[in-house]
Amino acid sequence: VAKNPAQPEFHQAVKEVLESLRVVIEANEEQYRRDALLERLVTPERQLLFRVPWVDDKGQVQVNNGFRVQFNSAIGPYKGGLRLHPSVNLGIIKFLGFEQIFKNSLTGLPIGGGKGGSDFDPKGKSDREVMAFCQSFINELHKYIGADTDVPAGDIGTGAREIGYMYGQYKRLTGLYEGVLTGKGLTFGGSLARTEATGYGLLYLTEEMLKCNGRDIKGQTVVVSGAGNVAIYAIQKAWQLGAKPVTCSDSTGWIYDPEGIDVALLKEVKEVKRARLTEYAAARPGAQYHECAGGSNVWTVKCDVALPCATQNELHLEDAKNLVANGCFAVAEGANMPTTMDATEYLQKNGVLFCPGKASNAGGVATSALEMSQNSERLSWTFEEVDSKLQKIMVNIFHSLDAAAKKYGMEGNYVAGANIAGFLKVAEAMTAQGIV
Ligand code: NDP
Repeated sequence: VAKNPAQPEFHQAVKEVLESLRVVIEANEEQYRRDALLERLVTPERQLLFRVPWVDDKGQVQVNNGFRVQFNSAIGPYKGGLRLHPSVNLGIIKFLGFEQIFKNSLTGLPIGGGKGGSDFDPKGKSDREVMAFCQSFINELHKYIGADTDVPAGDIGTGAREIGYMYGQYKRLTGLYEGVLTGKGLTFGGSLARTEATGYGLLYLTEEMLKCNGRDIKGQTVVVSGAGNVAIYAIQKAWQLGAKPVTCSDSTGWIYDPEGIDVALLKEVKEVKRARLTEYAAARPGAQYHECAGGSNVWTVKCDVALPCATQNELHLEDAKNLVANGCFAVAEGANMPTTMDATEYLQKNGVLFCPGKASNAGGVATSALEMSQNSERLSWTFEEVDSKLQKIMVNIFHSLDAAAKKYGMEGNYVAGANIAGFLKVAEAMTAQGIV
């Protein structure tokens, strides 16, 4: 804490991981101490902080902070998204980069952990302003990324439009047509099914978790928060698997739709119009709209399965109590660290199946790694090919964390299982590579 002051989200993520690694750490204490393995694990290999100046539509120069944290490259090139949101600061990027190490390890693919972004807010900006920002951001970042060194992707506020502008500028500056960013458009190296991957992957893992605990996703009522990339495709796949998703939310309000969320309408409102959920409610008379900053009140709706898909620390202890009281039996995180630590403990103590984001939302980065493979072989796989690989990866992730939890005497504790399974591979690679 003293070495990294004022970074509460980073401290929270490190605490959660290290606490659940206790048995593994005790078993290898002497070696980890001698090699300062944990100190090295929690210290990024490189942290880049830079100025991003750009000109707005009025001719005024604006200045934002740019970040890229290259956290750990023991098992592959740094890989992780770029978040564009006014709340972004170094502590948030470090928490996301730290989580990414274990998530990427869990996918079974050769990718290290990194994360980046800026406190730039794309909301309300014209396309030209977004392009000006993205180009300026890459003017600095291009020096530090590359297809075999660091491969950024999308995250909150960074979708296909932003990745396109960044890729164009990277190519212009370097002259390289390479898989340096993922989440690209389909006409220039993007992968089919990447857009859907995080939401779909969340449901594939949830389905497997339920199946292995004697339940079926079919017929369950599902509460989802968020209305962005992860939430939309989680809702779509929930329908496809026979469940009924009844809520969604954004940063100003939330929807309860007793008939189930209309995916086509939600996509139109959020992906095409980039509008507020009030427009969803206006077009759907049976749906209820509730104004609410943060959107967290979706957790008051009675459900069987809850999928937080908006942002960090959006599901608090009170929300966990509501979920349990209403009979919810499974929570799987689509967002990164959406559930606070006390809420997680409460859910686990009350017998709720709980899967942490680093496992259940790993489908996005896994498919990004598949995009990297396609770029390297200069080939494009079909939607079905990518989707079926994604499904296998998510099922494998669940079984590896389930097995790790059982092996270390914590059966059913998927938080511990995910951390242990993700950590062991990275620790072994770090040890084998010496003190670097
Ligand atoms: P989007 O920007 O597409 O959507 C985010 C959604 O969450 C929006 O509905 C947004 O509302 C809402 N939201 C964002 N910040 C807040 C906030 N502070 N309070 C309340 N609501 C908020 O992002 P994604 O769907 O891509 O990402 C969602 C989460 O999933 C993040 O935690 C991200 O790190 C994680 N994730 C994403 C992956 C991906 O492939 N996209 C992969 C793995 C994890 P509004 O529109 O009003 O801002």
